[in-house]
Amino acid sequence: MRDARPPEADGPARVDAAQAASPQADRALLAAACEARARAYAPYSRFPVGAAVRAASGRVYTGCNVESASYGLTVCAERVALWTAVAAGERSFDAVAIDAGPPAPGRAPVPPCGACRQVLAEFGLGWRVLLPGRDGAPVATTLEALLPRAFVPEDLGDARGAP
Ligand SMILES: [Zn+2]
Repeated sequence: MRDARPPEADGPARVDAAQAASPQADRALLAAACEARARAYAPYSRFPVGAAVRAASGRVYTGCNVESASYGLTVCAERVALWTAVAAGERSFDAVAIDAGPPAPGRAPVPPCGACRQVLAEFGLGWRVLLPGRDGAPVATTLEALLPRAFVPEDLGDARGAP
């Protein structure tokens, strides 16, 4: 798990680019999300979530949900992780891991909410999405599967401003 430590340890974690899609790298990404979940600030919902995004650079950025007494201002873990990465200069990503705890019996792993799916789509539809299976191993899906016929920046056409 050395490659998935949270950024506050000593800078963003790095995963060797050649291992970016390896089962080991996926497990490390999910472990990073699990560690971030422990830092969730969720006094109202008591539904802690952690997320970790892996940039094309190989760096991993984590986030947790942060709630507010003004409920509508609450932000999901996925967006905190992504925005942290973007603030660090990243623009290209290949995977996000989300840990909302093990799935309840008979339930699938908790997926990202619709708002987070849309925010992730800002940076492409090629995301692999890793969720914890009942045995703790990553269950993989894709953003494209979770957000079909997505609204993407290209849909703005000429109205799209320069980033
Ligand atoms: Zn969300």
